[in-house]
Amino acid sequence: MSWNEIIGHEELVERFRRSAARHRLAGTYLFVGPAGIGKRTFALKLAQALLCETVPEEQFEPCGECPGCTQVKALTHPDLDVVGRPEDKNFIPIETFIGDREHRMREGLCHRISLKPYRGNRRVAIIDDADDLNIEGANCLLKTLEEPPSRAVIVLLATSVQKQLPTIRSRSQIVQFQPLAIPVVARLLVERSLVSDPEKAQQLAELSEGSIQTALDMSDPGLLEYRGQFLEGLTATDGDSVALAKQLNAFVEEAGKEAPPRRRRLRQVIAVAASYYRQIIRCLAGAGPVGDPQLVAAAERGANQWKGDMLAAITCLERCLDADQQVASNAHAVTLVDCFVDDLMESARAS
Ligand SMILES: [Zn+2]
Repeated sequence: MSWNEIIGHEELVERFRRSAARHRLAGTYLFVGPAGIGKRTFALKLAQALLCETVPEEQFEPCGECPGCTQVKALTHPDLDVVGRPEDKNFIPIETFIGDREHRMREGLCHRISLKPYRGNRRVAIIDDADDLNIEGANCLLKTLEEPPSRAVIVLLATSVQKQLPTIRSRSQIVQFQPLAIPVVARLLVERSLVSDPEKAQQLAELSEGSIQTALDMSDPGLLEYRGQFLEGLTATDGDSVALAKQLNAFVEEAGKEAPPRRRRLRQVIAVAASYYRQIIRCLAGAGPVGDPQLVAAAERGANQWKGDMLAAITCLERCLDADQQVASNAHAVTLVDCFVDDLMESARAS
């Protein structure tokens, strides 16, 4: 078992290997890239390389079988902390970092990471959903990031550098992860038994924009069908924003009464819109659209009928990223959808 299971990020593996060989690993890393491309898997493999009990870390080749490696894999290693945003919260609570009121600074990640390693030479912390660090949470982390305990390595996982507070950004070594190649997504879907039929895997990979997460989202037949309708709505010349918003709200409601699946669905559709405007921008810049046939057709149609300029298309893309952020911070969904769709239509019409 080795780094071979980290697929599509071979260059980054080499970079880390060189740093490890020279004893130059950083104390804090900020892993950045779209969801579902393997940042977390990479971070866990890094933790294995640091906590492996048979292969020294300079070799950067965890054995995968010793108690250290096994416990990292099972997330039970006493020197590994993996934290993230709870499903029912829109930020990472400060208790995660500094303990609850009764145990302030005596519990939580910042306390644990400062302790002497329990089993080996290192303590490793992985902070998932770093996009959802609020100012209070980031402030709690600040001192730890400023003076990281000597044997500690902290990895923050995020989707974009821009979403990070400057205090976090400036104290981390930024590692940019690229989306996976389409054939890699298709292969991983089958190899990890996420999809059994290779042909289906290929189809989903084409819709994935290089993300396993997006590929799996697209395996929801409801979303795939709605994607067609929604793209149709966006490309319509004299689009009726009220009707499109109503349709989108109805689709989100179909996800059930609970907020998390509704939010997930809305974010999926916002991602569809974002990929559409990315392709519009490509078309307006004179490059052909790329992606699956449905997206390509919609982008070609949309670009032909586009009444705004390039700036309008960029504004639409930015509006999608904002909307995604608003969903993440629990904005009222119906209002958000109404404004979102209206803004998109408005920008598309502007000249
Ligand atoms: Zn090992």
